[in-house]
Amino acid sequence: MVRLILEAPGGSYPVIIGTGLQKELRATIGRLDPTSAVIVTDSNVKPWAARVARAIRRAGLKSAIYVVPAGERSKSLERLGELLRFLERSKVDRGGCVIAVGGGTVGDLAGFAAAVWQRGIRFVGLPTTLLAMVDSSVGGKTGVNGGRSKNAIGAFWQPSAVISDLASLQTLPPPEYRDAFAEVVKYAVAMDRGLYELLDREREKLAARDGAVLERVVFRCVTAKALVVAKDERDRGPRAILNYGHTAGHALEAATGFRVSHGRAVAFGMRVAARIALAMGLCSKTLVEQQDSMLTAYGLPPRAPRVEAAKVLGAIALDKKARRGKVAWVMPRRLGRAEVGHAVPSAVVRRVVIKALS
Ligand code: NAD
Repeated sequence: MVRLILEAPGGSYPVIIGTGLQKELRATIGRLDPTSAVIVTDSNVKPWAARVARAIRRAGLKSAIYVVPAGERSKSLERLGELLRFLERSKVDRGGCVIAVGGGTVGDLAGFAAAVWQRGIRFVGLPTTLLAMVDSSVGGKTGVNGGRSKNAIGAFWQPSAVISDLASLQTLPPPEYRDAFAEVVKYAVAMDRGLYELLDREREKLAARDGAVLERVVFRCVTAKALVVAKDERDRGPRAILNYGHTAGHALEAATGFRVSHGRAVAFGMRVAARIALAMGLCSKTLVEQQDSMLTAYGLPPRAPRVEAAKVLGAIALDKKARRGKVAWVMPRRLGRAEVGHAVPSAVVRRVVIKALS
């Protein structure tokens, strides 16, 4: 088991990573000592949520469970309204606590409910997907989707604790597990060369979901994220490094009507970003090859999705991180280091995207 403290202006909290963490969960609940607890989960993760309920009952706290249908559609204003009414019916007061047991969908929804209920109550994240463990459960971004725009409605609300029990990954479907490696490779290329080396050495163990190696991988990813969140909680500057690969990645998701999974789209986006960096003389060909081979090794090969380049280019121009019409690219410089805020001539973007899609 490993543990780190994430220090953000909005609150400092422990992130505990390991296998079989019931004792740590009971200790955390004992420390927070909430007046009541509501566990939010989804239809696929219910068995894990039931275990959590049993564990915290042993810590002397009864909880109610709120189950949403699995899938991104549960990150809606309607579902949020129902959850808030559930908190009201469950008489959760300002001393209460919301516990999310699930992936990023449940975490974002439950965290946002905690942020607005009674103007903010405590929130504990128990992520059950690899993506949620390495990314969405830490950093304090919570929210739901608007009718047409993803994550349009939300708040920064840091959890009081995050407990990543790697045992839960044993039931995660293979595509969910594989896709999360796009984000893991992102941390490695943009921020942590040691993580790249670990991924290179331990491919077989990670394919077998080995708990000891996963613990090191999740720890390194969370540490990388914690460092930027501490500097830029509200995402106004350096936190943008976490967006590496997401400019072209989001554009591909939008251009394909979300037919391409987020992980595959981010892998595409990282390939595009690295090739742009190479064309601009910002990184070496070796770096592009190292990134390519790692993505492919983790099941994210460079298969070009069938979509018109013009649609992807149009979506890049609309990137939500663009300021006054200028898209700010995150560019890799060398293994383990990327830089934010690069302007790229549109002819270069065009050339690279067309080639990547052909
Ligand atoms: P998800 O929560 O939808 O989970 C994916 C699928 O796996 C679901 O069907 C779920 O029911 C199932 N599942 C989860 N855990 C399981 C387990 N242990 N065993 C079996 N099945 C399990 O998706 P996700 O990939 O975890 O998260 C994606 C969401 O996270 C998106 O909404 C995205 O916007 C958000 N996100 C948020 C942040 C942030 O900083 N807040 C960062 C990245 C992504």
